[in-house]
Amino acid sequence: MIHPLVLFLLVLVVSFAWLDLQARFLSRAGIDENRWQDFAAYGLFLAFLVVFSSHASSLAAGIVGAAALLGIGGSIARQQGLGARGLLLAELAAYLCLVRAGVEIHFIQRPSGGYWFFSGWSTVATLIWFVGFVTLLRAARALPGLFQAVLALLSYMLLGGLMFHQKNSSPDALVLGLVLAGATTALWLRGHRGRAARTDSVAASLWAMTLAVLPVVCAIKRVALISLVTPLLLLATPVLFFTYVMITSYLAPNLASRRGARWAFRWNFSLERTVDLVMLFCLMGNMIALVYMATGNGLWAAGLALLSAVVYWRLVSFVLLADRTEHKRLARGEKLEILGVPFTVEGFDDVLKRVERMIDESRPHYIITPDALAILRTLQDEAYRDIVLRADMRVPDGAGVVWAADVLYESPLLERIPGVELVDRIAATAEQKGWGMYLLGAKPEVLPAAAQTLRQRHPGLRLLGARDGYFTPADEPAILEEINRLKPDILLVAMGVPKQESWIAANLQRIDVKLMMGVGGTFDVLAGAAIRAPAIFRSLGLEWLYRVAREPHRLSRIASLPLFVKEVLREKLLKTSAEASEDSKVAGAISVGLQAQR
Ligand code: UDP
Repeated sequence: MIHPLVLFLLVLVVSFAWLDLQARFLSRAGIDENRWQDFAAYGLFLAFLVVFSSHASSLAAGIVGAAALLGIGGSIARQQGLGARGLLLAELAAYLCLVRAGVEIHFIQRPSGGYWFFSGWSTVATLIWFVGFVTLLRAARALPGLFQAVLALLSYMLLGGLMFHQKNSSPDALVLGLVLAGATTALWLRGHRGRAARTDSVAASLWAMTLAVLPVVCAIKRVALISLVTPLLLLATPVLFFTYVMITSYLAPNLASRRGARWAFRWNFSLERTVDLVMLFCLMGNMIALVYMATGNGLWAAGLALLSAVVYWRLVSFVLLADRTEHKRLARGEKLEILGVPFTVEGFDDVLKRVERMIDESRPHYIITPDALAILRTLQDEAYRDIVLRADMRVPDGAGVVWAADVLYESPLLERIPGVELVDRIAATAEQKGWGMYLLGAKPEVLPAAAQTLRQRHPGLRLLGARDGYFTPADEPAILEEINRLKPDILLVAMGVPKQESWIAANLQRIDVKLMMGVGGTFDVLAGAAIRAPAIFRSLGLEWLYRVAREPHRLSRIASLPLFVKEVLREKLLKTSAEASEDSKVAGAISVGLQAQR
């Protein structure tokens, strides 16, 4: 047999050249090369496997058959729009083909020594292994380029396990390991810089399945177990990272100086850097697992974990601080966008000035006060997004929005303008200027108390009327008629998101007011029905926690906050990559790749 190192290098070099060639050819033909790269590399991998395996190798035949089933079945499932379930069916067919070719888990070693034999269950055990491994590994598709890096890392681990752990495994298994390592390395190197597309889902399944074959045929189940560490760490990385960002961004503005707070948001991860750091994290995790498996000494592993954590932390900080270019801070009056929702950098006074101008104009206006959940809603609800985008002004309400502005623009300058305080300030201005006001919304038993509070605080306020928010469509003409008769300048609508916004948009042209504003639960707060969180909670940005504790039914809404955090961090990554790359085409493609995941 050809020397292992020669085989590895041969596959690596030829695959690399092949990928280069097909990229040139495809880009000239106007085809998206990134999408086909993984398939092209896989095709060549199969060719190498067949050529270098022994004659009539059932292993190579099984892999070719399974790949054909999965590739063709997966593509048909996609064409038919069957989604993930269709792909899973094609995968199961491919795994069964592998089992027929002898890729089967017959037993596993017990930790206490001895073996567990699966006898009648070995097909089921094998299917579970394949489905679990492939599903976990597909988590790496989250970032363009990450999947290829993980493939390469895992193929080295498995090849290492095969060569040093199990000296008596079959030559065909060794060929499979070597060819896999060579091909995945080429794919990784080729894609490492400038690759902008997410891995195609069928291609990802093909590669992951092939990788999962190796530990089964070599009976290196311990190494197989360690190989699961990588996908698990992949899943853990974003969770750990989010936790870090959440904690620092909540605590830094309060604990550190303002400058310190800015540093907390000054991380500049381009996509490539992120992939590198995630890979390093996985590599360290694998090393620790290997040490534990090899020595069986938990103390050693724990020590190594601690050391790795310190080294990793230093390295991440180094990368974080490596880019010392001062970003231009947004000035007052400049625009920023959070997940596509535009805001203006402004404080209370600017907002009030704009309100004055709106009242001076004769046409109707409306203001929206989106919090994090409302912004998230704009991603899912097109009608709502339209209403938010058409508003005359959007005012950031809630710690989540300010946090997002901090993360995305590194400038905790945007003043937080809670709806409750804005209503109070607008009422004060209305009192001064003699504007009329009408309250619409909240429960009938709450509304009088809210109106009473406003009157007490602003004795000169012209409060023209109030109506609760629990009316039927049949009541609506009478309500509109009353408002139009009283002609208030300002109509506050408190019926919750998105009901109040829909109502405002639907009635904008039918109501004779200068300004409408959706104010959510503000009347409840004014009435004292929903007590505002104490100052300490507010200053820590933990108002939401207080509210959940008092009104547990809010929990289901709060549950989607992590989704908001995820979207914001994704946008940050996208923004940084776009800034880092001079080639705007690459940035565009990244954005398309990432958007496709939404
Ligand atoms: N509400 C209403 N009509 C409805 C539903 C709700 O007037 O059909 C009122 C409700 O009584 C409460 C407010 O709308 O005063 C919703 O407040 P919440 O805090 O739930 O809204 P958010 O600020 O979270 O959008």
